Amino acid sequence: MTLLSSHPVELAIQKAAKESQRQRDDICLIAVSKTFPSASIEPFLEAGHLHFGENRLQEAQEKWPALKEKFSAVQLHLLGHLQTNKARTALMLFDYIHSLDRPKLAQHLARLMEETNKRPRCFVQVNIGDEPQKSGILLKEADDFIDFCTKELALPIIGVMALPPADENPVPYFGLLRKIAERKGLADLSMGMSDDFEHAIALGATHVRIGSALFGKRTSQAASHQE
Ligand SMILES: *Cc1c(COP(=O)(O)O)cnc(C)c1O
Repeated sequence: MTLLSSHPVELAIQKAAKESQRQRDDICLIAVSKTFPSASIEPFLEAGHLHFGENRLQEAQEKWPALKEKFSAVQLHLLGHLQTNKARTALMLFDYIHSLDRPKLAQHLARLMEETNKRPRCFVQVNIGDEPQKSGILLKEADDFIDFCTKELALPIIGVMALPPADENPVPYFGLLRKIAERKGLADLSMGMSDDFEHAIALGATHVRIGSALFGKRTSQAASHQE
């Protein structure tokens, strides 16, 4: 028995999938290991877990090259804001980018993908609550931006991602994100975290990003997802 197969999070995902008549295998559990050292991550790797998420490039660069050498099948997801001048580094390390949220970054990524032949799959991040402090393309610009990424730049966009406003019922926001994906014919929905992943699964999440429910409470303020 692996660590994850008996983990309460895994059981809750299975239950949520079943309740909405979905297949467990259609939901990717991204273990969000930000702020946690390699020693905390290794038991998950040894149990065969493959998908991990980080939100800071520098931290990921410190931890993951060595881990990837030992566990080569790992799939790494970038969840946090990506500066344009760090895009090349991100492209080399990550298999998925969930934070594609502006034209300048999209254009730069398109150029780099051509140059490097690395094509991490991308989610367009939507600022689903139109919050001034948050990353993500504005809701009213989301459709045009997705068209720009897919049609003009031919980027490998697989879906949309969002972080609903804190302290609000996330369900309407999950529904809103799903509508965008449906309108644009995108298959994947990156939504749901430790506190709300069951709701996200009920609304069609294909990628849930779960940190504290797997690794424990984070002590570092710096890596809060509100950044
Ligand atoms: C930290 C983070 C998560 C995980 O949050 P938990 O509440 O610990 O599950 C998910 N998504 C993003 C973008 C994050 O930064």
